Amino acid sequence: MKILVINCGSSSCKFQLFNMDNGDVLAKGNAERIGIDGKLTYKREGKEDVVIETAIPDHQVAVTLILGQLADPEVGVIADVKEIDAIGHRVLHAGMHYSESIVVNEDVKRVVRECFDLGPLHNPANLIGIEACEAAMPGTPNVAVFDTAFHQTMPQKAFMYGLPYEYYEKYQIRRYGFHGTSHRYVSKRVCEFLGKDPKDLKVITCHLGNGSSFAAVDGGKCVDTSMGLTPLAGILMGTRTGDIDPAIVPIIQKKEGLTPDEMDTLMNKKSGVMGISGVSSDFRDLEAAAKSGNEKAQLALDMFAYQGTKIIGSYAAAMGGVDVIVFTAGVGENTWFMREDMCKPLEFMGVKIDPSVNTGLRGKEAIISTPDSKVTVCVIPTNEELAIALDTMELVSK
Ligand code: AMP
Repeated sequence: MKILVINCGSSSCKFQLFNMDNGDVLAKGNAERIGIDGKLTYKREGKEDVVIETAIPDHQVAVTLILGQLADPEVGVIADVKEIDAIGHRVLHAGMHYSESIVVNEDVKRVVRECFDLGPLHNPANLIGIEACEAAMPGTPNVAVFDTAFHQTMPQKAFMYGLPYEYYEKYQIRRYGFHGTSHRYVSKRVCEFLGKDPKDLKVITCHLGNGSSFAAVDGGKCVDTSMGLTPLAGILMGTRTGDIDPAIVPIIQKKEGLTPDEMDTLMNKKSGVMGISGVSSDFRDLEAAAKSGNEKAQLALDMFAYQGTKIIGSYAAAMGGVDVIVFTAGVGENTWFMREDMCKPLEFMGVKIDPSVNTGLRGKEAIISTPDSKVTVCVIPTNEELAIALDTMELVSK
């Protein structure tokens, strides 16, 4: 079975074509700068990348271009797009509607549309991606895999904000959480890796990348997560503030004369470790700057580690314990000193990192705690695309 995974952003369309019989990625790439000018990068294992600079006015054109490459007589990996059995779409927000992936029908599209307010940058692009695939491959099933779905098992005490209850009823203002596909994938994968039943474990998953979030997973079900109504909440991130005192928002708006949209941009695009350091949102640049004596870069790294420690500690308290801590995504998989810095203060609750394994470890499944550590700490590389492809295969095989 061949499954195409599509991840549409506001001006991009990432794709991967999987051969599910052996898990191979046949081709992958990204159509970027959609609506601006247009560039398609097409990659195959062991072959030279194909880069096409051409006008990509909208997502429909992007999907057509991608399918054209996949079935191209010279560089293609399939003879005909009819070989694609189904398409799995990453969709940001399903509000309170779906707690699992679902085959797309008119109702699903209505829900994705109803949630435009909750995911204004992503949901419209996700729907365009779905409709573009429907038009280009009529009759081929599309599956929506939601970033919010895994977190729908949170109890109400975890997802409510201390606002008047009417705003929850009128506007569905509550914590939803994101990166759900990644948290679900690594929390399940770590149990397989350790040979344990998810039902028996309390797991804290730390997805640390450009956007970062944590999830408390008790018996395989998410009970809390650090992102909120939007992906701005939780730990400070590459360019996002993370949690701040909400009163800061009107204070800065008044002092700087900013509109709500300008304030939103400041908190999403100009803050986080980038805003603190003034250097970069990339942890490799921060590490290099800190090593050469840049104190603000060091402060940004220290803040990231400190806030992460606090979230892990609070989730251990919330679950009444923790058996496994998992690090994943760009920073979690690669920046070994961040794993060490986040875990070091947790020694009091039995977390002991083994430097002989952790130091320098990048992008590989491993246990990085000592054999006598009460809590098992692991690195599990995330694979959101594979998780989407697996959900899609399962749903269309029913
Ligand atoms: P992601 O959002 O998961 O793609 O992660 C992006 C972040 O991961 C960036 O801030 C990078 O600094 C970091 N990152 C990615 N690759 C590496 C690497 N090889 N070594 C250190 N950090 C990395």
